Amino acid sequence: MRTVHRSAPPGAVAVIGAGWAGASAAHELRRLGRPVHVFESAPVIGGHSRSEVLRGVVYEPNGPHIFHTSNPEVARLVRQHGMTRSYRHQVLTEAYLHEDDETPHLLSWPPQVAELRELPVWPRVEAELARRPRTPSRANLEDYCISIMGRTLYEVFVRDYTEKQWGRKGAELSWEFAPGRLELREDGYRRLFRDTWEFFPSHGAAPVIESLLADVPVTVGARMGVTDLADLSRHYTAVVVTAPLDEFAGRPGELAWRGVRSESRYLPDYGTAATATPAYVVNRPSHRVPYTRTVETKHASGQHAQGTVVSHEYPGADSRHYPVPTPDRRYELRNEALKKDIRDLSLVPVHFCGRLATYSYINQDRAIEQGLACAREVAAGSAVTRPGASASP
Ligand SMILES: Cc1cc2nc3c(=O)[nH]c(=O)nc-3n(C[C@H](O)[C@H](O)[C@H](O)COP(=O)(O)OP(=O)(O)OC[C@H]3O[C@@H](n4cnc5c(N)ncnc54)[C@H](O)[C@@H]3O)c2cc1C
Repeated sequence: MRTVHRSAPPGAVAVIGAGWAGASAAHELRRLGRPVHVFESAPVIGGHSRSEVLRGVVYEPNGPHIFHTSNPEVARLVRQHGMTRSYRHQVLTEAYLHEDDETPHLLSWPPQVAELRELPVWPRVEAELARRPRTPSRANLEDYCISIMGRTLYEVFVRDYTEKQWGRKGAELSWEFAPGRLELREDGYRRLFRDTWEFFPSHGAAPVIESLLADVPVTVGARMGVTDLADLSRHYTAVVVTAPLDEFAGRPGELAWRGVRSESRYLPDYGTAATATPAYVVNRPSHRVPYTRTVETKHASGQHAQGTVVSHEYPGADSRHYPVPTPDRRYELRNEALKKDIRDLSLVPVHFCGRLATYSYINQDRAIEQGLACAREVAAGSAVTRPGASASP
């Protein structure tokens, strides 16, 4: 894309990517009075959280996206753009408690002590819980989990799921993303999240992100990279990048990523309020099945539609969905080096926000926070002039 910048007004900012981070940055820049143009490589906006409709049923081609936040500004912003329907997310896990079990137990995720007490495995679990250290281990993901839930629960709920999801053993992953994601519930709280606000809009996230970008010019099908920076620098006073930096820098392979592939099927034989699976998200940790979870968005959207869509989520796809958090943080460090290299190639300031560009395992609310912060940083830091352009009035 090297031909779309000609009409950019003075002081304009280019935003690369139209997911939550790019959309929030662009929306905030507009609110602050800065002209902005968004470049999105996909044919549609919305990024990873985008929802779609299959034969009249709302579903999520990139996995389940529950919006939860404790940030009042983020909650206010998404509500203003249509994210108004409250939701309470609960997850189930299909757990094989013994290697030779033929049928799994359907248990809560995170594991609930009250449920576990009813199972034959409880005496072993209880003994392991009594031996837990006072403070959780920070050596790696496996040690962290065992130190908070004991080895048996780790093996039943987390070990195989982790190996399937990340393609690595728990001992090869950092403990850092586990707090808040992996826990043992002793207080009977059944919902997955503890945030103040939790939403699931009846049409999914796509219309909300589209609303954020309603007044912003967007060019779709525009894959941008470092080779575009010279041209961007001539037409924009700053660039906000939300794309993955190894790809943006033309150095694929420099960062490790894990991707998932969702296989979604429309099932016609379900009435307007009927669903096919026991919950919106059912984790399938066992190696006996190749996928990690099933997703049926109809549970969350509350949609009344003939039929339903069930997705199976397969790990190991060749796409950039999850950063890989190793204990030595080697890829986070490489990402910082990529930021510097990209900045060095640009004549105007380049800012980075969002899950991909910051190489961080963040949720939607955090992507929005980063987008807003990035926009304010741009507005505060960059003058409304650009090389060769006259200042705006
Ligand atoms: C399977 C899965 C499930 C998840 N579930 C939840 C959940 O339940 N709740 C939650 O809060 N979060 C969830 N998340 C996290 C959530 O998806 C992210 O936090 C959020 O989508 C990040 O938004 P973003 O704008 O940073 O990135 P993205 O949504 O990935 O947007 C980046 C955009 O940039 C575009 N792009 C990439 N490269 C280029 C380029 N070179 N040029 C132009 N455009 C480019 C992409 O096409 C994309 O549209 C989940 C993530 C995954 C992987």
